[in-house]
Amino acid sequence: MKCPKCESEQLSSTVINEIEVDRCGKCQGVWFDERELPQLLDTRRASLMPIRGGTLREELNRKKARCPRDGSELTRVCSATKAEIIVDSCPQCHGVWCDGGELDQLLK
Ligand SMILES: [Zn+2]
Ligand SMILES: [Zn+2]
Repeated sequence: MKCPKCESEQLSSTVINEIEVDRCGKCQGVWFDERELPQLLDTRRASLMPIRGGTLREELNRKKARCPRDGSELTRVCSATKAEIIVDSCPQCHGVWCDGGELDQLLK
């Protein structure tokens, strides 16, 4: 899958507690399939280290992106856990994209 924000970059998958998530090595954004994000927010914080980090870049955060799975335009929605964090969500497959640094903010 290609990164929805960098577009040219391929996402690499990482398995955390048997959940496979896809992360971009360039912008450090992370793609979660439906229900993966709430599942991972429930796990031990230490196990999330491989997908944490990154700096939130406003231009990437605002960038319109397409779902790496089905190409639908992602919509910017408030995170269910922290309303001030805006994540990108796919209206079709319900996957969620967190830009680099956003996951750290969700875990604060
Ligand atoms: Zn990227
Ligand atoms: Zn989708």
